[in-house]
Amino acid sequence: MADLAKQIVVVTGASRGIGRSICVELADANTQIYFNYFSPVDLDAEKAAADETERLVSEAGGKAFGYSVNVASEEELAQFFDTVMGAAGRIDVLINNAGITKDGLLVRMKAADWDTVMDINLKAVFRCTQIVAKIMMKQRYGRIINMASVVGVIGNAGQANYVASKAGVIGLTKTAAKELAARNITVNAIAPGYIETDMTAVLPEKAKEAMLSQVPLGRGGKPEDVAAAVAFLASDKAAYITGQVIHVSGGMYI
Ligand code: NAP
Repeated sequence: MADLAKQIVVVTGASRGIGRSICVELADANTQIYFNYFSPVDLDAEKAAADETERLVSEAGGKAFGYSVNVASEEELAQFFDTVMGAAGRIDVLINNAGITKDGLLVRMKAADWDTVMDINLKAVFRCTQIVAKIMMKQRYGRIINMASVVGVIGNAGQANYVASKAGVIGLTKTAAKELAARNITVNAIAPGYIETDMTAVLPEKAKEAMLSQVPLGRGGKPEDVAAAVAFLASDKAAYITGQVIHVSGGMYI
């Protein structure tokens, strides 16, 4: 990462899966990580999962602080970033990772499922980017990394809402990169393929087989594979890369 005394990193959706792995990968003595998570279903289980992310980061030599924040709520997001700025005074890296699926064939898809996925996967990325871009513009430094998906590039039957949200994330990434480059802020996206997390664990066996059959490397990816790409984009080594989509998909899109 950049040669700053303390790197302040924000990761959305990091109580488990890829987000947690990103926190652990970025953990070091000079990094403070603020992350959020949100589950309206089982608050105790989610708090325990967030505590585990904090513990793993601490074990790796860093510090992480988890907050229950619904990224779809404008008020909660504003409060979250106020809290981070109050505690840390700056934000060097923003990783827009929180995402959900609500799959179904296009002709049967409920408008409510379209809206929920758009609110969490795309509108929240816009809101977080808007808030943090203003902070980074004053700093004249920043790294924004957005979690897209390979299906946002190639499409996927049964995921019209998810695919549209991820294609939107890619368009937003490219536009933000052009608007913010003059202030030394890079904006990139990562397009994971089939990564073994809770999100893919719930897929029917047939769907898993269909996805895996499209992977030239012949296996699913691990959250760590994605986290390594995030760490690179957050590092000084990626200082001249902006507006790009890095595919971490075992070659699903070549
Ligand atoms: P995951 O295991 O389901 O974890 C999702 C994370 O997002 C959890 O920490 C969850 O918090 C959080 N989250 C969900 N809704 C939220 C909300 N409204 N507000 C705040 N946090 C929220 O998912 P994953 O597989 O790690 O996916 C991470 C990202 O990678 C997503 O953007 C996903 O679309 C993308 N991606 C994943 C794959 C894959 O194969 N897994 C492939 C391509 C792209 P709770 O635990 O509290 O619900």
